[in-house]
Amino acid sequence: MLKVIGCIYYDHNIWLVLVAAAVCAAGSWATIRLFQRAATAKGMQQIGWHFLTAVGGGSSIWCTHFIAMLAYAPGAPVDLDPILTILSLLVAMIGTCIGFVLAAGAVFRPMPLIGGAVVGTAVSTMHYTGMLAYRVQGFVGWDMTYLVASIVMAVVFCALSMSFAMRVSSGINKAAATVSLVVGIVSLHFTAMTALEIQPILIDLAYTNPQAMEALALAVAVVTLIITGAGMVSYLIDDQVRAESHQQLMQMAMNDNLTGLPNRSSFNAHLDHEIYLARETGGRLALVSIDLDSFKEINDLKGHAIGDAVLQVVARRLAALLRDGEFVARVGGDEFAAVYRQHDHGSLDEFLSRLEGALSREVRLEGHGLSLQASLGVSFYPDDADCREGLVNNTTLAMYRAKADRNRTVCFYEQSMDETVRARRALAADLRQAVDNGELQLHYQVQTRVNSGEVCGFEALLRWVHPRKGVIPPSDFIPLAEENGLIVELGDWVLRQACLDASAWDQPYKVAVNLSPAQFNHSCLPERVQEVLAESGLPADRLELELTETTIIEDKERSLAILKQIRKLGVSIALDDFGTGYSSLDTLRSFPFDKIKLDRSFVIELEESKQARAIIRAVLALSRSLDIPVLAEGVETSGQIALLEKEGCHEAQGYLLGRPLPQAELRNIYDVAPDPAEEQIAYEFAI
Ligand code: C2E
Ligand code: CA
Ligand code: CA
Repeated sequence: MLKVIGCIYYDHNIWLVLVAAAVCAAGSWATIRLFQRAATAKGMQQIGWHFLTAVGGGSSIWCTHFIAMLAYAPGAPVDLDPILTILSLLVAMIGTCIGFVLAAGAVFRPMPLIGGAVVGTAVSTMHYTGMLAYRVQGFVGWDMTYLVASIVMAVVFCALSMSFAMRVSSGINKAAATVSLVVGIVSLHFTAMTALEIQPILIDLAYTNPQAMEALALAVAVVTLIITGAGMVSYLIDDQVRAESHQQLMQMAMNDNLTGLPNRSSFNAHLDHEIYLARETGGRLALVSIDLDSFKEINDLKGHAIGDAVLQVVARRLAALLRDGEFVARVGGDEFAAVYRQHDHGSLDEFLSRLEGALSREVRLEGHGLSLQASLGVSFYPDDADCREGLVNNTTLAMYRAKADRNRTVCFYEQSMDETVRARRALAADLRQAVDNGELQLHYQVQTRVNSGEVCGFEALLRWVHPRKGVIPPSDFIPLAEENGLIVELGDWVLRQACLDASAWDQPYKVAVNLSPAQFNHSCLPERVQEVLAESGLPADRLELELTETTIIEDKERSLAILKQIRKLGVSIALDDFGTGYSSLDTLRSFPFDKIKLDRSFVIELEESKQARAIIRAVLALSRSLDIPVLAEGVETSGQIALLEKEGCHEAQGYLLGRPLPQAELRNIYDVAPDPAEEQIAYEFAI
């Protein structure tokens, strides 16, 4: 080792040695970074980075050797073989490239060490090829011990360097990889130069021009630094681009694409942070859940583009009203959430009225004004819940309460809501057992012809006789079944039971069965109807299916196809609850209905309200022109039926004509085995 250090001092031009060292350090620093980028890149990018590593690494290693060689003062005139010199440069680039590619492949655990050893071998080959190009006027001999030692050192340190470079990309590993590479290159050069023994034969110093050698060395150093610098610039540009795209990705991941408001992930993160702050400072938070009331209608009737535009307007308004300590995010389709940090100045009421103001203002789009309404639910940290999940849960419960109550837009969470939810869950669990336990029954309500009082059919209405709670009305359990998907099974039971019951009647009355949206949209309804008819033996023309407009409007084309298939079987279709919901003339025109069932709400007002009468008259006129009979629902008084007869309504149904009854009682009252005289009396009594 001492001999090596001695060789640096006594045989070398020390300035050039320093230049070589600087090139070696800068080159190794850049090479390790370029190599690490190549190791993590994929495909064409990886090939590009490997190329830059080989060019930058190979040229700086060669340059270090070349300058250090020129710095060597052999005490004899020197000449350089051009072909071998160029060959040594190519060996440096191609040889190290193979080593880098192997090391980066990392298929087996020792691959970085093997690749590094190849790099070390390439560096040694480059050095000794360069030395062959170095022609001295003298006898040249080699000390084999130093020669072998130089190669071993290069191989070991380069292997170490690659091993560090392929570890977790930390500052320490980077530095260790760089230092090992520098040590590998430097130790090779100076140990190899120590191995060199020259006996000059002719001292003709005029033959060598030391200034020219120095100039050459500096020029090579500058060119190499430029090459390595170009590689590093690519690295830095790539770094910048990566940082920018990372930021863009973060922005996309944390914000909602449509409205630009923070999304659910950022909402969660923000709420967690606010809860943490409130916990630390003993503060209080309010969480507000916001749901637009009629957004689905806007989407269905005006199209998704308008729906999106409405959401954007709402989001802009919400973002504009925020002050210090307030936060709004879009957490779902038409759902938003706001977090309010309670502080001394300002109050939650004032914040809520700002929200309400923004949410209830008309939205003007393409010259049309759309009125908006929203339901807001509020709960507090730490009063109502002390974690995010609890808070969100409670706020959602409060929001649903606000949605259900037409008179309130804001509802605050109360503990009793939990009990309601628990009760609903328990009821849903009981409902699952109801079919198996035989707790479901069908009641039948008569439908009669208005002018003759003749019975034309019965509507099947579902009843649930709960073992502990008694009779539960469908308005309580049908929505529950619709929510949890149980309705498909229930509906199927109703369809089958109604067909079986009706097929046992002595008279060929029609039976009307209500269909829920989920049941209608279930994949194989027409096939199921056909199966049930076949099983029960009920002729298809005695079955009528009742649907509401909401059921069919979602996917009109698909609904039309299903309705056509059902009608092809000979089953008729009635439009239920007409006059509520959408009631678009377009629906009547485009779907093949056999009956319109005018909603009870019009019949109730028939006697008192001129408007209700006018509407009924208009619906009847329309039905005549479309050739679809109308059935009036909910007829309770003889006055109502008289008016309906006067207006030319075809059929009626209601408590006046008959309450829903179980199959057994139906037989006694309607005498499903016919007796026309009795039927006439019953009708006269009714009006
Ligand atoms: P709907 O289809 O409009 O059924 C008519 C409802 O009005 C029935 O209530 C019936 O008892 C009631 N009603 C009949 N005449 C009068 C009257 O003169 N005055 C008053 N105030 N009410 C009258 P119900 O049986 O409670 O059913 C309520 C709703 O539950 C039904 O409305 C229907 O939408 C749904 N539903 C009932 N059974 C089934 C079923 O099997 N499947 C499905 N999907 N829904 C059903
Ligand atoms: Ca109905
Ligand atoms: Ca109805």
